[in-house]
Amino acid sequence: MPTYSHSQLSTYETCPYQYKLAYIQKIKIETEGIEAFMGSRVHDALEKLYRDLKMTKLNTLEELLAFYYQAWEKNWTDAIQIVRKEYNPEDYQRLGEKCISEYYKRYYPFDQGKTLGLEETIYFPIEEERGYWIRGVIDRLTLLNGSVLEIHDYKTSGKLPTQADIESDRQLAFYQMGVEGKWKDIQEIRLIWHYLVFDVEIQSQRTSGELQRLRQETLELIKRIESDREFSPKESPLCDWCDYQSLCPKRRHRVVVESLPPNEYFQEEGVNLVNRYVELKEKKTILLGEIDAEIARVEEAILAYAEREELEAIYGSDHVAKIKNEIKEKYPLKGDPNRKALDEFIKNAGKWMEVSDLNPWMLVRVLERGGWPPSLAKKVKEFATVEKNRTIILSKLKERD
Ligand code: SF4
Repeated sequence: MPTYSHSQLSTYETCPYQYKLAYIQKIKIETEGIEAFMGSRVHDALEKLYRDLKMTKLNTLEELLAFYYQAWEKNWTDAIQIVRKEYNPEDYQRLGEKCISEYYKRYYPFDQGKTLGLEETIYFPIEEERGYWIRGVIDRLTLLNGSVLEIHDYKTSGKLPTQADIESDRQLAFYQMGVEGKWKDIQEIRLIWHYLVFDVEIQSQRTSGELQRLRQETLELIKRIESDREFSPKESPLCDWCDYQSLCPKRRHRVVVESLPPNEYFQEEGVNLVNRYVELKEKKTILLGEIDAEIARVEEAILAYAEREELEAIYGSDHVAKIKNEIKEKYPLKGDPNRKALDEFIKNAGKWMEVSDLNPWMLVRVLERGGWPPSLAKKVKEFATVEKNRTIILSKLKERD
């Protein structure tokens, strides 16, 4: 039967292509980001802390950190990758140590409730009719005062969510759905996130109405996933941490060329093509700029020649350049301080509709047509400034009448 997890659904939301590789094609990737590796080691240490406590053994902080360092060494492989090149493995190791130490000091002697479960698997139907199930693993489940169930989750993320993010979090709400009804006399379920990097605890609760809405949204998301035929790659800043970059059409070329020695890199076909393309585009921009400047110079020369020789048409081999000399009235454009007064004036004259939204070119045409009473036209013309305008119109000789 179709089973989904929070991280599976999140993967689809982040990038459908990554989802396809991970959950449909089930491609296993050897590499692991150091952030995830550090998070797992911190989880291991906190699991040990509470597992030993169940056996009445309280580890000292030194013992716990010794366990953490041992687990780090034991699990470390060359497949662990560091995206942020400014940091080294020791930096991450120290950050993990800080997470454990601060947590230890904050909750010592860990007598806040009874531990019911560690790394507790949940599995429940989100919709029984169509047989959709959700699975997940709860970091720690605690019973407080015999009637309060606490769902604890450890996070080693470097980003602290807002309370609004927490209120709409899906993961722990799923966990609540998974544990509801499992124990008698539970009157309250608390969702508790430990953002260890910040030494911050955040709590939230979900009403049955909110859980019902989540159920609905989840089913809609599952429907979207199951009807997707494309699973298009969706680039985001998270791509840098994606384990599937070497298989992704948006990142594969980068992965390939980054591993090439310099001499092969500059011979690689794609690198060459893109470099050449950029070179040509840049050259085009430069050439267009040069050509525009040259055109402006020639225009000036044509106008100067026409003025000097008192010509209105200059003949080339295939074209004629006609010089159009005209005196144009110019009315204030939008933003001109006179524009508002002109608008008002025309409106009061009851002629606004004729020049709707006062198009200055339209105004010139209306006045040229002489459609307005002369006294009004005279008043409007007072808004105009006079500008000498010269343009060059090129046309093919054979197209002349
Ligand atoms: S690299 Fe980015 S776009 Fe490609 S699969 Fe991974 S997350 Fe998706």
